[in-house]
Amino acid sequence: MARKVIIAGNWKMNKTATEAKVLVEELKAKVKDITSVEIVVCPPFTSIDAAVKAAAGSNVKVGAQNIHWAENGAFTGEISAQMLKDAGVEYVIIGHSERRQYFGETDETVNKRLKAALAAGLKPIVCIGELLDEREGGHTQKVLFTQLEGGLSGITGEQMEGIVIAYEPVWAIGTGKTATPEMAEETHCYIRQQLGDMFGQEVAGKIRIQYGGSMKADNAASLVAQKNIDGGLIGGASLKADSFADLIRNSIK
Ligand code: PEP
Repeated sequence: MARKVIIAGNWKMNKTATEAKVLVEELKAKVKDITSVEIVVCPPFTSIDAAVKAAAGSNVKVGAQNIHWAENGAFTGEISAQMLKDAGVEYVIIGHSERRQYFGETDETVNKRLKAALAAGLKPIVCIGELLDEREGGHTQKVLFTQLEGGLSGITGEQMEGIVIAYEPVWAIGTGKTATPEMAEETHCYIRQQLGDMFGQEVAGKIRIQYGGSMKADNAASLVAQKNIDGGLIGGASLKADSFADLIRNSIK
């Protein structure tokens, strides 16, 4: 069974609610004919409601950028799975490298957030990826193995089929340096092999693995053309309707 390409825009800490409404309205008009790519935008929490309302009835879905694992309680500043669900969110990014780098995210907290998302019926996008010195030191596979093992601990094969993995080499995020399609494919292939060892080949063959890291309209086609690359998690290029719509169109396999 072919895996449907998924392109998700991670807006990070950009776009007010007013700006989110405009961006989603522009985007949905530009991509309304596209059915072969799943399209997701992930605004900051305060802009989710505006994005959900603007995207209603279109082929643009809305995701969040983080989630807390507790159902509710004394966790100042945090947002629960149920709150996201109630706000109309469908996807949630978990373990982005910026969360790992600046906010102390670990494989253990990734795993807790992942379980909370699944329990609430949210679709998780779990981010993994190596730092530049880890790649240069030849440790990429070991780093990815550890992130997969820890982040996906206790997850069943059935649950895994609904989880998207985003492979984002940290050295390529927001730097303009993209992994070559061949380099990315080699790593995606390794990730799928590991998923096969963990969950069986049949499940691994169904899991969508996105690439992320300076993906743009002009390099999307060559990346997504690779056998094991099933879409992209996009930062900078998702902030303008034109560039994001072009990227989505160029990702049609
Ligand atoms: C990201 O934030 O996940 C990302 C890939 O950013 P960029 O596309 O800007 O490199």
